[in-house]
Amino acid sequence: MKKVLKNVSFVFLLLKMCIVFGQEMSAQKRIIIDVGHGGKDAGAIGINKIQEKDIVLDIANAILKLNKELGKPLDIYLTRYKDTLISLSDRIRLAKILKVDLFVSLHCNHSDNPNARGIEVYTSSKQGEHSKESVFVAYQIKKTLCKVIGYKSRGIKFANFQVLRETVGNCISVLLELGFLSNKEENEYLSNTTNIKFMALAILQSLKKQ
Ligand SMILES: [Zn+2]
Repeated sequence: MKKVLKNVSFVFLLLKMCIVFGQEMSAQKRIIIDVGHGGKDAGAIGINKIQEKDIVLDIANAILKLNKELGKPLDIYLTRYKDTLISLSDRIRLAKILKVDLFVSLHCNHSDNPNARGIEVYTSSKQGEHSKESVFVAYQIKKTLCKVIGYKSRGIKFANFQVLRETVGNCISVLLELGFLSNKEENEYLSNTTNIKFMALAILQSLKKQ
């Protein structure tokens, strides 16, 4: 009898631990920041020849650094930590293996029209389990970014991008276009290291709100 009681209390203890651990796990959201382009794929090229792949990597690394420094860090991973080309399917696979709650792809825009400017946030045009939440999070991130940085908002857009289409069934999934490298002012803004940190802080703040 004593042994049975001992076993029962052990099961209860185990159950309690699972609940506490589960609560902690669900409170801490896991995020993957997909750092666009890389390696031989430079992405968009700015007026002063600055490359999209370098800007988004600088922003992502600044987010990681600020996340450590500011306390209460989020559980953040990157799809690439240096200047290497990762295939889109590998980026998606990584997000699924890590079972992330949020997939955020970082990009910069380019247009033939030099006056085109502002921030666009994309979600998948193909419906998935997390479509509604993705639109909500896209709106929240756009709002924070435009408020903090003072960029013009070009709105929430829907596109059939592979990274969004193939992750929206598993997690909240958004793609940020962080200004136009073809626009003189925004190109200058993104060429400044202080502004890169500022943009990283704005993105991190918006992620902390999710
Ligand atoms: Zn891009």
